[in-house]
Amino acid sequence: MDLSKLFLNNIEENEKENLRKNILIDNLRRGKVFGKVVIILEIILSLIDIVSSVMKVHDKFLFNEYLFMYLFMIFINIIFLRFIEKNQCICTKTECNIKKGELGLIIYVTLIMVWGSYISLMDQELYGQLMAFMMNMITVCVIFYLDIKKLLIPFTISLLVLFLGLPFFQKSTDILIGHYVNLAVFSIEAFIVSRVLYLNYYNDFKSKELLKKANEKLKELTLIDELTGIPNRRSFKNFIDFAYEFNLKEDSTVSIIMMDIDYFKQYNDNYGHSAGDKVLVSVAQEINSIAKDYNNFVARFGGEEFILAAIDTMEQEILNIAEIIRRSVLNLKISHDSSKVEKYISISLGISTSRVKNKDDIFKCIETADKALYIAKAEGRNCFKNINSI
Ligand code: GH3
Ligand code: MG
Ligand code: MG
Repeated sequence: MDLSKLFLNNIEENEKENLRKNILIDNLRRGKVFGKVVIILEIILSLIDIVSSVMKVHDKFLFNEYLFMYLFMIFINIIFLRFIEKNQCICTKTECNIKKGELGLIIYVTLIMVWGSYISLMDQELYGQLMAFMMNMITVCVIFYLDIKKLLIPFTISLLVLFLGLPFFQKSTDILIGHYVNLAVFSIEAFIVSRVLYLNYYNDFKSKELLKKANEKLKELTLIDELTGIPNRRSFKNFIDFAYEFNLKEDSTVSIIMMDIDYFKQYNDNYGHSAGDKVLVSVAQEINSIAKDYNNFVARFGGEEFILAAIDTMEQEILNIAEIIRRSVLNLKISHDSSKVEKYISISLGISTSRVKNKDDIFKCIETADKALYIAKAEGRNCFKNINSI
């Protein structure tokens, strides 16, 4: 059945778009928190730098490049937070300018990592470590879900800056070699961490999407008539429940039209069961499209019987709809040689309208419409009969 196929199918184009959108929304949400934390940290570092400089704690702590870098980091994060705010639509699920959002994120991530590279170069003179770069790299890998292309951009640029810059800042060959080895190992590990997190997200998303689709399909299977593609009897009952709960006012009326194809048994006998099935599909589709035009609900009630429900509809309009349906089905001009009433497939209709004080009134109305249909059959078929019980 369709369901098993569904599970085997790969995610389609629009799902990929959906995945990108979801990842972006998640990344920007995390970026918003991350940006704020970084701003606070950099403010603290800047203050320490300023206080140390004023108090002359260390001859290297004099309003130096570090302060400039901290302020630059604050600036980058303020711009990034403003970018997220200005493009709030990126963070809502409706309108989404994915490309713009992704570009902003990549530029931000790249700047954060290159910033780490530059700080680590400066650190060579002070204490010879690569901590700043490594911390930024692993933080970015853990906080943001980046696919391989988006990951390679900040990785390549920041590593290039660091690899090429190190010999100019680190004079000890031994330390330099150690740095290169550590950097290579650390970068590979960070890359793997990022990939694992991204693939987890991707698989999680895929399972959720499949589950959503499977649920939709299941719903369709239980509420849509398999042969005709219109709502089935269960769906009709749901509609009645829903209408009763949410749509019916104190003084509301419900109108029911019961429809039944004339001499359908003879049609099957004459043309075969599968030809009969095709007729059912055509008639059902025709009735359904007319019902939709008038905002009414129609379902296959069973066999070759259909039911239509209309809420708060004037009697004249219901009679009008019934006549349109009767005429449209006849106008399908499906030959029916063994019909005793017409040379084409025709239907008979029974109509009833009643005021609804409780749910039982609706079911009574259906019974009355059924009686009206019986009378229409008795009076010659290819016609409608109305029993007004208001
Ligand atoms: P009437 O004008 O009095 O309604 O005559 P009728 O022959 O249509 O009445 P009846 O209810 O006795 O026959 C209905 C027929 O509909 C019997 C059954 O073979 C046929 N039918 C019910 N469901 C299906 C279906 O899914 N496919 C096909 N091809 N025929 C169906
Ligand atoms: Mg019947
Ligand atoms: Mg019939």
